[in-house]
Amino acid sequence: MGIICWNVSKKLKECIKDDVIDRKGIRKLCKLLLKSHVPGTQDILLKYGVAKSEVITGVQCPNCKAFGMTRVRRKWFCEKCGCFDKSAHVEAVKDFFLLMNSTMSNKQFREFTHLTSVDMASKLLMRMNLPSSGANKGRVYHPQ
Ligand SMILES: [Zn+2]
Repeated sequence: MGIICWNVSKKLKECIKDDVIDRKGIRKLCKLLLKSHVPGTQDILLKYGVAKSEVITGVQCPNCKAFGMTRVRRKWFCEKCGCFDKSAHVEAVKDFFLLMNSTMSNKQFREFTHLTSVDMASKLLMRMNLPSSGANKGRVYHPQ
């Protein structure tokens, strides 16, 4: 147990830079704590005094790690490094389930990924084949 604690605290320091923990850091932390059998995503945000509103939203560029990719020519485009990615939103969805909520509506998906089009959001969500419940506007998606 002692070794595990030491390991967690060492890795924890790697997640936090300049006293700031970003979405990537929180995600790393979640994985680490889950691996160490420490329960609860909600508890993690609470424990580190991070409000849901403080979690950085937007699709993260897999290349340069900048947040806020936009949809260009049916792909995600990073204005920072110019890279295109087809499925960058998948990671954002995983982050959402880990950090924000256990279910996700079309609206929540759009808010989290900064998408404006309901249809585009529906298409992307449908292609992910996530389990869902409810219908039409009441439909929510669940983690796989
Ligand atoms: Zn980039």
